[in-house]
Amino acid sequence: SGSTDSGRHEPAHDARWPRQNSLTMKEWDIPYDELKLFEVIGTGRFGTVYRGSWHGAVAVKLLHVNALSDHSVPLDTFKHEVATFRKTRHENLVLFMGACMKPPRLAIVTSLCKGMTLYTHIHLRKDKFTANKSVIVAQQISQGMGYLHARGIIHKDLKTKNIFLENGKVVITDFGLFSVTKLCFGNNARGDSLGIPPGWLCYLAPELVRALRPHASLHLPFSKSTDVYAFGTVWYELLCGEYPFKGQPPEAIIWQVGKGVKQSLANMQASRDIKDILMLCWSYRSNERPDFPHLLSTLEKLPRKRLARSPSHPVHLSRSADS
Ligand code: ATP
Repeated sequence: SGSTDSGRHEPAHDARWPRQNSLTMKEWDIPYDELKLFEVIGTGRFGTVYRGSWHGAVAVKLLHVNALSDHSVPLDTFKHEVATFRKTRHENLVLFMGACMKPPRLAIVTSLCKGMTLYTHIHLRKDKFTANKSVIVAQQISQGMGYLHARGIIHKDLKTKNIFLENGKVVITDFGLFSVTKLCFGNNARGDSLGIPPGWLCYLAPELVRALRPHASLHLPFSKSTDVYAFGTVWYELLCGEYPFKGQPPEAIIWQVGKGVKQSLANMQASRDIKDILMLCWSYRSNERPDFPHLLSTLEKLPRKRLARSPSHPVHLSRSADS
């Protein structure tokens, strides 16, 4: 795998994919009865993830659909997003296996990620990532994200909770499903409040923050460059072990980000080049943010200090650094 495109000359857009009717994707339908569900792995804003079995171990994300009054609109959106999802094949992206498409049973079946999320490593276990290890992780994220963007897919919810680390290999989950999942759940906003889940805000680019309205998160102007902004926040978490604007109330974060105020890097122990990446990703103007191929080459050019000498970071992590 991984070299399927080599040697072929193809345009870098969707034209290479034969157009198919995204609303009849029988081969990706999984009858709900064929799924075995075991314990709940976790509950997110939009659905509950189960460890399950379908020809082997899988993760099943059952979407919350109870809040739904009219099934038809979200079902189309769901199918559309599933159609997007199934086009993805990359080392650093979770494997999409299929979906249950019969309301009220809407579920997405993917391979089961082993290991822990970057969120768990960074914020719960307080694992320290050396600069070298952070670079290796960031390179893999850039590779997966670069692939998604080349396929015309915007992640919309890139965050450390959606990035697994399996034996040093990055696996990105939850891409492109933001609108459907948000639709199904409705919104946790009450009245005029915004209903902002904790830890979400610091991934939102200024143009998204400025567009926040009660009940309007579906229409946020997500783009490739808002994904790059979110990547910047992941990069910051890797390096600093905490979220930007740590401890500040949402109102303060919204005001600052909306005005172009960034988290200060004054106390950050990192080289100029590392901080430059952060500042570029967090550029106020979306057109000044780099794209993932550019980020990847910048990351590859970073000088590596004391390469993989720490006994707490064994050699398997340095493998991809050497390639
Ligand atoms: P949000 O809904 O706000 O994005 P979240 O990312 O925690 O929050 P989910 O994406 O629904 O919520 O995931 C719920 C839990 O299931 C998380 O703990 C996540 O790590 C886990 N999970 C999701 N996908 C997989 C997978 N393919 N393999 C293993 N665990 C998974």
